Amino acid sequence: MNQPASQVAGDAALHPELLGMLACPRDRQALRQDGDRLLCPDGHIYAIVEGIPILLVPDVEQTHIEGTRSLLVAESGAALPQFNVGPGEIDPFVRNAIGATNGGLYQHLVGTLTEYPIPHLRLPAGEGRLFLEIGCNWGRWCISAARAGYRAVGIDPSLKSIRAAIRVCRQLGIAAEFVVGDGRYLPFRDEIFDQIFSYSTLQHLSREHVAQALSEARRVMRPGASALIQMPNVFGIRCLYHQIRRGFRDGRDFEVRYWKPGELLSVFSERIGPSELSVDGYFSLNPQVSDLHLFPARYRALVRASEGLRRVGRSVPILRRVADSLYVSSRKAV
Ligand SMILES: [Zn+2]
Repeated sequence: MNQPASQVAGDAALHPELLGMLACPRDRQALRQDGDRLLCPDGHIYAIVEGIPILLVPDVEQTHIEGTRSLLVAESGAALPQFNVGPGEIDPFVRNAIGATNGGLYQHLVGTLTEYPIPHLRLPAGEGRLFLEIGCNWGRWCISAARAGYRAVGIDPSLKSIRAAIRVCRQLGIAAEFVVGDGRYLPFRDEIFDQIFSYSTLQHLSREHVAQALSEARRVMRPGASALIQMPNVFGIRCLYHQIRRGFRDGRDFEVRYWKPGELLSVFSERIGPSELSVDGYFSLNPQVSDLHLFPARYRALVRASEGLRRVGRSVPILRRVADSLYVSSRKAV
């Protein structure tokens, strides 16, 4: 994947390796490229926009308004605004989206960002293994995965986000593949990925849709493959505060859904395989230690406290119960 297909303009052929991974999100049959379209043997047709396959299922309700927008662009074939980002500049999408995509502690960086905040991935070195991120937005975790030696593939329902991810990767010299898709209907063949990753994404879906996305994750995982998925804890200190503010009613639309640790273990074990929980962090969903230098002093103290608690929490179970952000690690049986 040294020459990412998604960086090829117009209706040029998709990279054979990417095409070999793709499948119809409705019926999982292999797809064939015909100019700027992908065709399924059963007549399902998907547009390729600027070299990006748009593999959303149009006849279901989208999880995010940006999914609906991506479909409209694919259908209309309208010209898209072009951005020229110079060396050392921050992509305008990332500059504006940073508060929403990385959490509240990044709000002050909207418009003032001077570097891309690329987080540290809590996974072993990739050694060429195939990595799929569900809900990749502008690609920060895929970039981290590519740097750690994974062959990274990101999906997101937002064409705007995927276009930004491709621009940022091009700027940073990162080879990764990106596809517009929906976690509930993964547009990939069975049993191809070694590592699934998702951060701050499934928390926005209903329990039913999370279960559906996990079953899909299992389908595309090779036997013995792993998934690492971040989720919010209903008993987290900061999470409790947010639930009080909304009167403990269930989340709706794109609001965060809070999960009990036992509930997470049971759904992930049932849908993927043996699962365990670890702490991602406290007080927030969730700043990255690798971004410490980007925060003002008061936030740095908070992030350091979170990291301290995470370390102590390894030997103090009660602390783990009040962590706000959890990782669920699951393995698909061989
Ligand atoms: Zn089909």
